[in-house]
Amino acid sequence: MAPKEKDVRTYLGVPLIKPRVAFFDFTSCEGCQLQIINNEGTLLDFLSLVEVVTFREAMSEKSDDYDIAFIEGSITRDDEIKRLRKVRNNAKILVTLGSCASFGGVNQLKNNFKNPDRPKKIVYGKHPIESGHVRAVDEIVKVDMKILGCPVKKEEIEKVVMHIALGKTVTFPKYPVCIECKANENVCLFNLGEPCLGPITRAGCDSWCPNSKAGCWGCRGPSEDANIDQMVRILKDNGFSKETIMDRLECFGGFQTLIKGVKK
Ligand code: SF4
Ligand code: SF4
Ligand code: SF4
Repeated sequence: MAPKEKDVRTYLGVPLIKPRVAFFDFTSCEGCQLQIINNEGTLLDFLSLVEVVTFREAMSEKSDDYDIAFIEGSITRDDEIKRLRKVRNNAKILVTLGSCASFGGVNQLKNNFKNPDRPKKIVYGKHPIESGHVRAVDEIVKVDMKILGCPVKKEEIEKVVMHIALGKTVTFPKYPVCIECKANENVCLFNLGEPCLGPITRAGCDSWCPNSKAGCWGCRGPSEDANIDQMVRILKDNGFSKETIMDRLECFGGFQTLIKGVKK
């Protein structure tokens, strides 16, 4: 759809067109979308960058005409697969929003049950719902970009959208949370007797949890060259049980492929 003349902005004299963006929720707690709406301080600036055409949590209008689709949530039902494929066909860029969409998130924990009906019975009792094997979005369709976290950090979404709108390359930190933690001058939690996955987890959250004296649970998945074996050794040397270690490594799904050897 051609933009109206008043909508065309310029950057260094180059005409810029507001990308039409749409937000979609699948199996999720909707906390990642809430992060965007909660962003009172800069929400208006953010909205000046884009034209939001679908966002069920915030508006009733809908459209199938969009450039960027943001996907929140993992995929757990057949109808979700169909809906996701349709979104993919409509979007020029598809971005996953948060751990659930990017690698299954907390939802994927139920894949560990030998009897898939057991978690359903425990959680929903006499009110069963349809919910099958949990999959990340990139197990179904091509994903162009992943914004990580549980929830995502609103500043990171703004940065990504701004870079796309300005036609700039989007980059994410490759280094681990420890780098941000040290820059924030935190006392290392291992010195306080707390476990922390900061040494192997991708930065970008500004060491959100350690800043509040809570150890990292790895919600952003592995940093580049994450050394899982060494992390496990450090945790063991600090007296943490295998159960505590696996609880953290399995929690959000980002380390699933890397911990196969650790489980044995
Ligand atoms: S990643 Fe976390 S905050 Fe976002 S939808 Fe999933 S559970 Fe909710
Ligand atoms: S508290 Fe965690 S993130 Fe911070 S330096 Fe220690 S291990 Fe790294
Ligand atoms: S510190 Fe770890 S668990 Fe906390 S937000 Fe950052 S990556 Fe996620």
